[in-house]
Amino acid sequence: MSDLFSYDLLAAEGEARAGVFHTAHGPLPTPIYAPVGTQATVKAMTPAQLREVGAVLVLANTYHLYLRPGDELVASLGGLHAFMGWDGPILTDSGGFQVFSLAGHQGGESLRKIDDDGVTFRSHIDGRRHRFTPEKVMEIEQNLGADIAMVLDECAVPDNYDYLKEHALPRTHAWAGRCKAAHSRPDQALFGIVQGGVFSDLRQESARQIVDLDFPGNAIGGLSVGESKQAMLDTLDITVPLLPEDKPRYLMGVGTPEDLVEGVARGIDIFDCVLPTRVARNGQALLRTGKYNMRNAKFAEDPAPIDETCGCYACRRFSRAYIRHLLVAKEILGATLLTIHNLYLMLTLIHDIRAAILVGQFADFRAAFWAAREERAA
Ligand SMILES: [Zn+2]
Repeated sequence: MSDLFSYDLLAAEGEARAGVFHTAHGPLPTPIYAPVGTQATVKAMTPAQLREVGAVLVLANTYHLYLRPGDELVASLGGLHAFMGWDGPILTDSGGFQVFSLAGHQGGESLRKIDDDGVTFRSHIDGRRHRFTPEKVMEIEQNLGADIAMVLDECAVPDNYDYLKEHALPRTHAWAGRCKAAHSRPDQALFGIVQGGVFSDLRQESARQIVDLDFPGNAIGGLSVGESKQAMLDTLDITVPLLPEDKPRYLMGVGTPEDLVEGVARGIDIFDCVLPTRVARNGQALLRTGKYNMRNAKFAEDPAPIDETCGCYACRRFSRAYIRHLLVAKEILGATLLTIHNLYLMLTLIHDIRAAILVGQFADFRAAFWAAREERAA
């Protein structure tokens, strides 16, 4: 039995790596993609269906669960695993990203206000005032009881150099230290988060400070928030090599099929993204080579599955015509079948990426992935 929170590197090819991270609810084979269960549920899916599509790690959102039903209630019912009926590994974010996304105004008053000690915000549900400090967030995440918890950080806009350097980064680093000091749950791994926008000197400084705190895993935050794809990849090229090799590296909130391939190529081990489940509910089917809008009239009489190469339940059993019918008729099964397909696609892709690394063929896999996309686009 391996030590809790140890990372075993099994194979590497260039920067890409395959390994295992050990949690209290079982091993995470990495690289791994985590479906997002914002409100302690991956929308439209039962835990049994999640298992069937190959999910191992599920993400839940601290901000939402703190507001409703409340972290103390979840703790009193045995913690998040028992509450949501998922006995595999769970990761909770810190809630910071949602709070900092509340930049808008309601009734002339800003929805959030940040200072060096924490952030005060109004609930998007009932407008009530709340306050997150690093210590408060650690209390909430420990009540929720996920296997991996994240420190509170400030997610600032990625291209405001002066603000990042003078305010957001010093705060992020101080808060990481306070989170570490406040965190005591031995069955929960606390990960640090490197920020710094799209600026190489700030990313380097942030990586140095976060790595010094010696968390069992390190995340890269503040990406996929409006910067260009190239800026995101350049930032990974700069940042990932500064993170320790003997700990997992988590790229937060990023995860299209091409992001998985290019993130792994740059040394990322853990991904999460709401995109596959969110677009499913809007009628979009992801493919390795692109996507379909399944509401399109051209599918009305199409007997083929969504994707002939896919082995998911939706593709094995149902036609494009039937799935389009469900979407047009606003039947909830349409959202379930497309979510099954999209998650299966993502989880099978990351599984195949890992298998390729283990046999030293990731470079070929990556080249074939891009060649197939270019062929379809042509
Ligand atoms: Zn499918």
